[in-house]
Amino acid sequence: MPVSPETLSAARQDLAELVAIPSVSARGEALDACAAKVALLLGKAGFKTEIHLGDVGPFVVGETGDGPFTLVIYNHYDVQPEDPVDLWTAPPFELSERDGRLYGRGSADDKGEFVSRLAGWRDFRAAHPEPLPYKLIWIVEGEEEIGSPSLTRFLEKRFPDLKADLCWWEFGEVDKSGRPIVLMGFKGILAVELECRTARADLHSSLGAIFDNPLWRLAAAITSLRDASGRILIDGFYDDVVQPDAKSLELVASPPFPLEDLQAETGGRRLLQGVDGKNYYKHINLEPCLNVNGFHGGYGGEGAKTVLPCTGMAKLDFRLVPGQHPMHIADLLRKHFDAKGFDDISIKILDAEVIGVRSDPSHFAVDLGAALLEKWFGRPAVIQPSSAASGLAYPFVHQLGATLFGAGLTHHGAMLHSPDENILISHFENMIGFSADFFAALCDAVRTNRGNAGDA
Ligand SMILES: [Zn+2]
Repeated sequence: MPVSPETLSAARQDLAELVAIPSVSARGEALDACAAKVALLLGKAGFKTEIHLGDVGPFVVGETGDGPFTLVIYNHYDVQPEDPVDLWTAPPFELSERDGRLYGRGSADDKGEFVSRLAGWRDFRAAHPEPLPYKLIWIVEGEEEIGSPSLTRFLEKRFPDLKADLCWWEFGEVDKSGRPIVLMGFKGILAVELECRTARADLHSSLGAIFDNPLWRLAAAITSLRDASGRILIDGFYDDVVQPDAKSLELVASPPFPLEDLQAETGGRRLLQGVDGKNYYKHINLEPCLNVNGFHGGYGGEGAKTVLPCTGMAKLDFRLVPGQHPMHIADLLRKHFDAKGFDDISIKILDAEVIGVRSDPSHFAVDLGAALLEKWFGRPAVIQPSSAASGLAYPFVHQLGATLFGAGLTHHGAMLHSPDENILISHFENMIGFSADFFAALCDAVRTNRGNAGDA
């Protein structure tokens, strides 16, 4: 049954009201107002709601139902700043429609995701008013866009003993060809800044005959970290890597799109040694990598300046896989530099909060969700073992023990964090329909015992 015009219009109204609240966490703006609105919407939809203080913006929790299975839904109501505002076609905090799309800051990330699920929930409840046979906990935070500084602590404090089965992640994607993607994991991240100082002040470059140069030092140190295939040469780096399960390996063996597409789209030319059209998707999903983000020092202006700089700096990030703890990798990096004679290079840790996670794609809810996504989007769902990027799913997956399930309406041209952020109205509708069906399908699964904890 298609989504009714009444359901769609109520969802659009909710989205318009939420987009109109400029809940920019980077500025700490309108977060209380937005949290109150979210709590009101959840309360009206039958949830018992609570608001808890966070470091910057409050957490909203909605709870309902009871049973042997626990679904946690995670969303966020905060948004990125709207700047540069003059690049928006229409005002960022007014939901506007053009060419089958809805535009506005947060239309996709993450208010549109939240509203579509909630609209689906209301339709599901209208058809199934009996008590929900599973526990549903909906957590909507207001600090996601600034790195969720209090999420882990909040979950520990508010849900110290909670064991959950499934965590419906705050977003999901629809690829360029219209296929819905089910995301099962994220990489972790360690970002560091390296610095090397070799003299009190910049020197005449003629002294390069006897004194070492911080940029040479940094270049040599960085070169020692990786080979041409991208394999990281730090002792012990791979020791704790959790080996992928058979299903994940099977999934990455048949990439959902050809490498050439990605090359054409990005203009990326040079592949790492050994990367080809068969294995690139495995690298993206399951392999850690090391990037040099920036390399600075000395003179970069016009013309020549024969200087021997006294300092140099570089920034690196490691995208880590499950099992690799960012702080442990930072220790190994220190040991590597010391062992290679680079003890004059300092390491400042910029980001070590996000630990990689990857859930088992053979969980029953994944197949169930994938089938319903196919029903609503008209294309078979792609199950992706891990994003190439990082997300703070660790507390949900490890602390609460939930299987990650990322499904949503964020399309290829959604312009997240940019001017003209948007969603396709057709996807909005599909996600509402999907959500209603998914809530219902979980009831059936629980009633037929498939949803019992441990029966995955
Ligand atoms: Zn975002």
